Amino acid sequence: MMKKVLVLAEAKDRSLRNVSFEALTAAQRVSEGGEIVAAAFGSDAVNYVGELSKYGANKVYVVSNKELDTYTTDAYFQALRQVIDAVQPEVILMPHTAIGKDLAPRIAARLGLGLVSDVIDIQVEDGEVIFTRPIYAGKAFEKKKVVSGILFATVRPNNIPAEETGGTAEVVDFNVEIKDLRTIVKEVVRKTVGGVDLAEAKVVVSGGRGVKSSEGFKPLQELAEVLGGAVGASRGACDAGYCDYSLQIGQTGKVVTPDLYIAAGISGAIQHLAGMSNSKVIVAINKDPEAPIFQVADYGIVGDLFEVVPLLTEEFKKV
Ligand code: FAD
Repeated sequence: MMKKVLVLAEAKDRSLRNVSFEALTAAQRVSEGGEIVAAAFGSDAVNYVGELSKYGANKVYVVSNKELDTYTTDAYFQALRQVIDAVQPEVILMPHTAIGKDLAPRIAARLGLGLVSDVIDIQVEDGEVIFTRPIYAGKAFEKKKVVSGILFATVRPNNIPAEETGGTAEVVDFNVEIKDLRTIVKEVVRKTVGGVDLAEAKVVVSGGRGVKSSEGFKPLQELAEVLGGAVGASRGACDAGYCDYSLQIGQTGKVVTPDLYIAAGISGAIQHLAGMSNSKVIVAINKDPEAPIFQVADYGIVGDLFEVVPLLTEEFKKV
């Protein structure tokens, strides 16, 4: 049955995040030919229309209030609620990012909707929409269907490959009223500039306590650079002060699903596996052949990371 789907597109540094296109691809499956409406927020929103239509949006709600240039729960909640009222969707999808994780539960609670969060697959089976999501820290998967109300889900980055469909979209300049904000962002100060976004990286090179110092991360950074990837870390490495907590992968850190995950000097504690075990190919480098990381690895190298990682970098440079 055709369904009207609303997708909240998310941008970072003035360009759309890939997960926005992945959410639109999920929308194509769910809509079964129904209308797909994308909502883009902030002063740059109008610039995103072309790309959103390329991935299947038939209509784009451009909400260019400058209060939406930087995310605040309050402002985004007010804007999205007004878009939902206007669009009257049967399905709402948004990226499972820091923004989605913060905003979706609030929308769900205020609108009295059920929320299926962190979905890695969406299929339509016998006319019913089936959401798949990991549970027990990625050890098992559950399939869910929503039996009443609006279908509302957040989509984990890097799981539903974005598919271009071409096409054009009708643009709706949509004015929202944003008032009584309790938080106003005056300035954003970034710790690091540029680099590949860890959550969306196709290759992640992660270091653990085995790197022994912040200096020890350098060979990992070089390998990540050659592979066009991002650097991650275990909590062990973060706790030891070798790197920033923003790099932490795992149960209490970021969840990543890259095509290639290289774990160097990481033992493979269950809490770390929760953040990376769904990676497509896992390579482990550890000098302890009994390290649990080898149980989830597709390829294991027993050796000293300070010897192995530079060798890999040299080899990949030749490709
Ligand atoms: P270690 O366990 O100390 O392992 C270091 C490894 O490096 C060893 O296997 C060693 O053989 C190897 N090694 C040493 N030197 C070299 C070398 N030169 N070359 C190659 N290998 C070498 N952890 C996370 O990662 N993410 C989380 O989100 C997270 N959340 C947690 C939440 C809770 C509630 C709790 C209790 C724990 C959490 N942890 C998390 C911590 C987790 O339990 C582990 O303590 C942590 O992952 C260990 O980090 P590590 O593998 O880097 O260190």
